[in-house]
Amino acid sequence: MVSARRPETRWVTRLIPFVLLGCLVFSTYAFVKHICTDFFIHSRHEFRAAIALLVVYFLFLVLMLLTYFRLFLVIQFNPGVLPLGPLAVEQRAKQKEERRKSGMCVRLREGDLEAHQYDIYSWPDPKPDSPGLEAFYSKDVFVCHTDGWPRWCSSCYNWKQDRAHHCSELNRCVKKMDHYCPWVGGIVGENSFKFFFQFTFYTTLYCVVGIVSAAFNVHTLIMSGAGVDGVVIGLLGVTAFFGLFAFSMTATSARYICLNLTNVDYLKAKTLVHQVAIRVPRGTPPSIGRIASGLDYQVITYPLSRPKPEATEPSPQSSGRTVIDEPVSPRDLLATRTFAIVRTEKGENPWDLGVYGNWKSVMGNNIIDWLLPFNPSPCESAETNESFYQMGPLYQQLRSRYNLPEIPASEKGGVELDELEKQREHRGGGTRTRSSR
Ligand SMILES: [Zn+2]
Repeated sequence: MVSARRPETRWVTRLIPFVLLGCLVFSTYAFVKHICTDFFIHSRHEFRAAIALLVVYFLFLVLMLLTYFRLFLVIQFNPGVLPLGPLAVEQRAKQKEERRKSGMCVRLREGDLEAHQYDIYSWPDPKPDSPGLEAFYSKDVFVCHTDGWPRWCSSCYNWKQDRAHHCSELNRCVKKMDHYCPWVGGIVGENSFKFFFQFTFYTTLYCVVGIVSAAFNVHTLIMSGAGVDGVVIGLLGVTAFFGLFAFSMTATSARYICLNLTNVDYLKAKTLVHQVAIRVPRGTPPSIGRIASGLDYQVITYPLSRPKPEATEPSPQSSGRTVIDEPVSPRDLLATRTFAIVRTEKGENPWDLGVYGNWKSVMGNNIIDWLLPFNPSPCESAETNESFYQMGPLYQQLRSRYNLPEIPASEKGGVELDELEKQREHRGGGTRTRSSR
């Protein structure tokens, strides 16, 4: 269970379910007693209308509660955070111990002596066999920096898989992070976005029933000169407030789903240029000077050559990534993979599968999945040997645009890495393990 870093956020998150429960109890009382019973049955003698309204009201109420509970459970117990790097685990355990000892909230801040010993890890781990690095270069494509290394989280001290972002509220990297939402108890991301959308959708419908019934009641009473019912005015206020809020969230979320973006992506969607490492045949040279189109690319070959022993400790002045060539073992040669480092144009989305494809990747493959909060989003299990997420047509377009050579059959299918695994097992294990999610 991962909770918010700030105590005030944790308290707000704990209190909000009770506020929502209070609103729900009041709304149900106002709707059943004042609108259906008093107004429709006793005043207007419209028994059928009252029954129809009750059925619709409770249908949306049940769906809203069902999606809320599913969302709440996912957010609390499976929020889709990435693992911390070993040093982050060590640092956070130390901070926790210090807080426990001092009996007060102490956090290592800039300037604290203890914090400085971890400063060097704000830079990516320079070791060629850094834990987790293999999960990237065992794929055919991943998002990278200009130098071809994967993205690094300087707070989690770990490699950041494609589409993950660091959530400052949780102090953890979250897969396809969207936003921190105290209304639903935590971070909305890859694992919870489908249920979040369903929850806001049913909340909108639930509120529409309340708004329409309450507005009809108020209008009728005013026209008949009977004066207004204060409880119904309260119902109108509560449902209008939450309805407007839920509708705007539903519309925004639907837009993100159809574009295959998150809230974080969307903020910079029009200007962001993705840097992507795409696998090319082993030993492919950089294109610099060979291509006149201006679409030059550099290359990087993994596993990286081992650095000199004295170069393993990075200094604040350098990223410590300088690696030198030295003879590598036959097993490393077998697992060698070369990647071209290319750039998308501004605003291009490598994971855009088209509106319907994007929708299905989050909402599921059939209408039952779209409407009910049972099955997880297909994108949660989209990781393959080729990529972390299903790539859109842009992936092949980039290969053509940069004229990247195709990978020969002899290098396809992870044969080299499987072979490497076998050799490692045969030797009784090595220091690196093949990473998976
Ligand atoms: Zn992080």
